[in-house]
Amino acid sequence: MRVVVVGAGIVGLASAYTLRAAGADVRCLDAGEPMGARSAGDTRIFRVAHGDPELVAEARRASELWDDWSLTAGRTFVGGERLVVSGPRVPAWSAAMTAAGAIHRVARGALHDPAGGVLDLAGAGAFLAATVRPERAQVTGIDADGTVHLADGGAEQADAVVVAAGAGTPALVGPLGIDVPAELEHHARFTFAGPAGRPCHLDGRPDGPLASTYQHRTASGHWAVGGHLPDADTAWELGADEVARRSRAAVVDHVRRHLPSLDPEPVTELRCTPIRGAGDGVHRARAGAVHVVWGDNLAKLAPRLGELIAADVVGDTPVAAGGRDHAP
Ligand SMILES: Cc1cc2nc3c(=O)[nH]c(=O)nc-3n(C[C@H](O)[C@H](O)[C@H](O)COP(=O)(O)OP(=O)(O)OC[C@H]3O[C@@H](n4cnc5c(N)ncnc54)[C@H](O)[C@@H]3O)c2cc1C
Repeated sequence: MRVVVVGAGIVGLASAYTLRAAGADVRCLDAGEPMGARSAGDTRIFRVAHGDPELVAEARRASELWDDWSLTAGRTFVGGERLVVSGPRVPAWSAAMTAAGAIHRVARGALHDPAGGVLDLAGAGAFLAATVRPERAQVTGIDADGTVHLADGGAEQADAVVVAAGAGTPALVGPLGIDVPAELEHHARFTFAGPAGRPCHLDGRPDGPLASTYQHRTASGHWAVGGHLPDADTAWELGADEVARRSRAAVVDHVRRHLPSLDPEPVTELRCTPIRGAGDGVHRARAGAVHVVWGDNLAKLAPRLGELIAADVVGDTPVAAGGRDHAP
């Protein structure tokens, strides 16, 4: 079976890697640098903790698969830092984890996720790319029969096409009748020098302009802090520079007031363009030979998404054409 995967971010690479392992003949195409868009940067948070029992279950399976990849690669992709969740989400997330049978503990109002930790995303991307060998090519259109049109005027005929093109996905699959939210926003995360030996942390308590914050160690031993600003401060029309400026002001203020052990001058800044309002969640759809995956906060689920997509493609599991499937 000949499969073209469009996109060499963590989801496209995970899909291509798993499809290859399932025996498919796979080409993975990216218009830019592999792992250079929403998957850029060194680390993310892995967590089983979610507010939806189905996502908890999928993250548990992802945890097993990250372990498998770590064993194959001889490199640990999810660290043992653990995760703490605080704020108003705790009761609902604890209930979701209980419903999914996931081990966790609530103490002093915070939820402790023992499976959570720092995800070595850059390491995982390099591991997958060494097998998948993504090629530089911009896809300009895809037909439901599996024809992939390229910017150089060429075309590739595949038995199946997987679209994991991040911000490029809506334009590629809209003509096939698959409606992927196209409204984007800007986001920026910052790193700071200082002690980094703590668990990853998600805090859902509003703090100044920030509706919530997340923190974790990075590969360089710095401490990453990101915060979610109100929609008006992250709007696409404001531009990446202005949103980064507002984010930086709010996050630095947060660090000054709550994280005094850190040097409040940011060391690095990482920008990205999430889908507006997506939050946690994964969506898959299919039109003919074309399989599509999109969502936000997908890094932690990548091996599970690869497994699901490979099962869809190789096993040809039917999903309604143009329809939406909120699994996992
Ligand atoms: C600051 C930040 C913090 C985050 N924190 C977390 C976290 O803690 N935990 C977590 O799980 N997730 C987190 N995320 C989200 C997570 O990183 C993303 O959901 C994930 O990396 C998306 O991967 P992807 O493969 O879907 O998309 P991308 O990495 O964007 O890959 C899509 C690829 O498709 C290519 N492409 C697009 N259009 C075309 C085309 N027409 N032809 C060919 N190629 C094309 C692009 O060049 C790109 O390389 C965070 C993201 C950021 C930026």
